[in-house]
Amino acid sequence: KPVVRMDAQAPEGYEGEGFFATKLSSVIGLARSYSLWPLPFATSCCGIEYMAFLNPTYDGSRFGMERNSFSPRHADMLMVCGTISKKLAPVLQQVYTQMAEPRWVVAVGACASSGGIFDTYSVLQGIDRIIPVDVYVPGCPPRPEQIIEGVMQVQALAQSESLRRRDTPEYQALLESYGIK
Ligand code: SF4
Repeated sequence: KPVVRMDAQAPEGYEGEGFFATKLSSVIGLARSYSLWPLPFATSCCGIEYMAFLNPTYDGSRFGMERNSFSPRHADMLMVCGTISKKLAPVLQQVYTQMAEPRWVVAVGACASSGGIFDTYSVLQGIDRIIPVDVYVPGCPPRPEQIIEGVMQVQALAQSESLRRRDTPEYQALLESYGIK
């Protein structure tokens, strides 16, 4: 475990003696959690609430995630906001597979989580039928505060999970169960 001793070279303003002890994985987790790059996959009304979450009133920038990415190659948090039709499902799954690890998925709202009010033949009854979901945000639509809560849950995951979790046989088996390599 790396230990950094605070001695006479301590930064100006630091008074007293002591030690800072941490793990590299904790530092990386902290850095990841405050530099998430979201990819908004917004198909309907919940997408509007996501836009509200980014505006100055709710200020998604506070979480270090003001840089939205519209390329899956440059994103690590997939925000699925809205109704996903079965016809669109393969596209969503392809977007997910094009994201590099580590990646997280947030199902924003009832439609993304379970199909919502659209219990019908053409609508996917929850995106977790085609991709693994890390956080579900309830509501129809959820308020921006609820989306903030969901993002904070992802931050907690990014900080707490092992750097190697995504390499484990369990995680690989999970992906294979979705037909994702
Ligand atoms: Fe629209 Fe409600 Fe579905 Fe969100 S959960 S996309 S607000 S119908």
